[in-house]
Amino acid sequence: ILDAQSSLPKAKSPFKVSSTCAPRILFQNVSFAYPGTTKQVLSNISFTIDSGEKLALVGVNGAGKTTLVKLLCRIYDPTEGQILVDGRDLRELDIDSWLHALGVLFQDYSSYKFKVAESIALGRTDVPLDMDRVKWAAQGSEAAEFINEWEDGYEQMLGKQFDKGIDPSKGQLQKLALARALYRNAAILVLDEPTASVDAESEAKIFARLEALPKDKTVILISHRFSTVRTADKILVLKDGTVHEIGSHVELMEKDGTYAKLFKLQAKGYFPDL
Ligand code: ADP
Repeated sequence: ILDAQSSLPKAKSPFKVSSTCAPRILFQNVSFAYPGTTKQVLSNISFTIDSGEKLALVGVNGAGKTTLVKLLCRIYDPTEGQILVDGRDLRELDIDSWLHALGVLFQDYSSYKFKVAESIALGRTDVPLDMDRVKWAAQGSEAAEFINEWEDGYEQMLGKQFDKGIDPSKGQLQKLALARALYRNAAILVLDEPTASVDAESEAKIFARLEALPKDKTVILISHRFSTVRTADKILVLKDGTVHEIGSHVELMEKDGTYAKLFKLQAKGYFPDL
């Protein structure tokens, strides 16, 4: 499996991407239909993500948020249009260096039955396990609190089938998965509903830390909770695979469109499916 090659065409003279400094990303008239289908899931999408920007993606289920992230990871190529990374087409980049620069937490993340420190350090396997970084990542994802309560701390074995192994709760597994993504310390961090199973208090703390990440780190966050996306630099509302609204919280509230309507609804305690 590890040796499996991507079926996407390889660049002729691949261009290496910096793994430390986030590039400027430009979606230019991007349209996309999944292979073997005709339905356009994304239609004529254009927007920029500046280096170090914290971007929130919102939209109803099926709006195309995850698909957009998949294109950014080059799991698929756009059917039409281009994704430009510091001015270069994503298809011209050296894919390994591009993946090295990305840290992605999808909704259907994996959980690993190793010692907890090892399970977090799987986020970056090309360097030896760095315990300080493991602890930093666990703090960032609010996992440190429960890890410290475990008898064996960071040496705790995960998985009941192992001697003294334990099965963490769903919320704890999600925090561990987020710690793994943070441990990666990637230039571009993409989080697809990273706190769906996490309590509201932890979620608020996690988002505050994500926003405080250094200015050279880009964060793309998919979330349904407006109270947490409001502080993003830019919020993109996707609707039926198109850019419906884009701007800061203040700009979108002034516009008084879809975002403003849904934000006000959530502020009243009503959570529509968005
Ligand atoms: P969101 O993340 O906003 O909920 P998705 O990007 O997951 O939306 O899905 C957008 C649309 O693409 C949906 O209609 C979904 O059914 C369709 N879709 C997602 N994955 C695939 C796939 N692998 N093949 C075909 N259609 C897909």
